[in-house]
Amino acid sequence: MEILKFGGTSIRDANLIKKVTNIVNNKKNKIIAFSAISGVTNLLSVFVQQIQDKNYVKSEKIIRLIEEIHIDIINNLISSTNFKIIAFSKVNSAIKFLNKSINIKLSDKIEKEILAQGELLSAMIIYLYFLEQNIDVAYIPALKFMKTNKDGEPDYKHIRSCLNKEIEKHQDCNMFITNGFICNNHNNITDNLGRGSSDYTATIIGSVLKAKKIEIWTDIDGLRNNDPTCIHNTNPISHLSYNEASELAYFGAKILHPLSIIPVLKTNIPVILKNTFNPMFPGTYISEFTKASGIKGISAKDQITTIKVRSAKMVQAYGVLRKIFNVFEKHQTSVDMVTTSEISVSMTIDNTRHLLKIESELSNIGDVSIERNQSIVCLVGNFEKNKTAIVSKIFNAIEPIPINLISFGASNINISFTVNIKDKIKVLKLLNDRILKNEPCLTLN
Ligand code: ASP
Ligand code: MG
Repeated sequence: MEILKFGGTSIRDANLIKKVTNIVNNKKNKIIAFSAISGVTNLLSVFVQQIQDKNYVKSEKIIRLIEEIHIDIINNLISSTNFKIIAFSKVNSAIKFLNKSINIKLSDKIEKEILAQGELLSAMIIYLYFLEQNIDVAYIPALKFMKTNKDGEPDYKHIRSCLNKEIEKHQDCNMFITNGFICNNHNNITDNLGRGSSDYTATIIGSVLKAKKIEIWTDIDGLRNNDPTCIHNTNPISHLSYNEASELAYFGAKILHPLSIIPVLKTNIPVILKNTFNPMFPGTYISEFTKASGIKGISAKDQITTIKVRSAKMVQAYGVLRKIFNVFEKHQTSVDMVTTSEISVSMTIDNTRHLLKIESELSNIGDVSIERNQSIVCLVGNFEKNKTAIVSKIFNAIEPIPINLISFGASNINISFTVNIKDKIKVLKLLNDRILKNEPCLTLN
């Protein structure tokens, strides 16, 4: 079995959906997960916001826009009246539901049902088109098998058994369509796996079915070796290990959902990032082992806050780190980077929702100083050999830009440091020109 996932930009219009059809037709035995059509989940989430703000005119405008996007695709994609009627009726029911939700008090359940409409419609429209093309295909709704437990994590046992049941209903069929992103939560209420999580859907399915490979089809030639939003001459990375890909995804590379490597971590299932607009290009191959050593990619994450706790009482004391991290656990705030000295501990967070409470509780442990507007720059690669040479190369390259925190040594695949957000682009450029340019063996030009 192969799992394929197509992102919203890959199915943005009828012609692209036809292109996707050619890509999937060349494969045997596959499950294809679709994201919502490009921009639709954003519109739905703005729609929720507008209802909450009682902005009814804007809400109705968004509904019309969502309706137009889907009707336009159906008109250009599906030719037979019968299939068109079914497709239009699916859009109508979704639109009716959205109209109805303007006038009721939004619960978490309805909010999630609203956000689910994009994936429910895209997968259904493409399924109907495949049927019209006489492709042997079955629709297996994600809400019949995708489920999270009370910690919000995939309930693998449930997913495996329900997904297999769904597949068994369609003996002899070797192509299945499903929805990315959406799931049921532990209360059996519609939910989702988080924004941009259709990649995660694909890897969860791949891991429970022990798939041969998972292909994530998007609109770029693979994971870039630097942030393409700031740097022009970036290159796609040919090979990465699971851990390297996770680090790059977590620290800012937008092409892959940061959680999506977790389900395949203890498997040998390759995850391949492919470009729908350039299908012959090999893309980025992510697997358990990494071939080359050296720096493979750089990513950066903005809106980072650094918290420093300093106290002379820390000298030779034990239990201080536990006390500090208890505060973050209590306020459900995850810490990305940590560095310590004998009298101080520095940490970074990206979620500042509970910062005031965290600051006040940490001040019982020591003097707290907070610095906002930081960026984490993260260099990923295989640093097992020549560690010292790599570190000195990096810091020589960016001198004299001031660095606040450095984290290195926790793993052989990541060197991270923080800089002021205003210096970030300069740092990425310097690293690109002075280091990445000289590591061409790692990329496919
Ligand atoms: N449609 C969802 C989103 O925009 C999921 C995805 O595209 O991966 O967040
Ligand atoms: Mg995505």
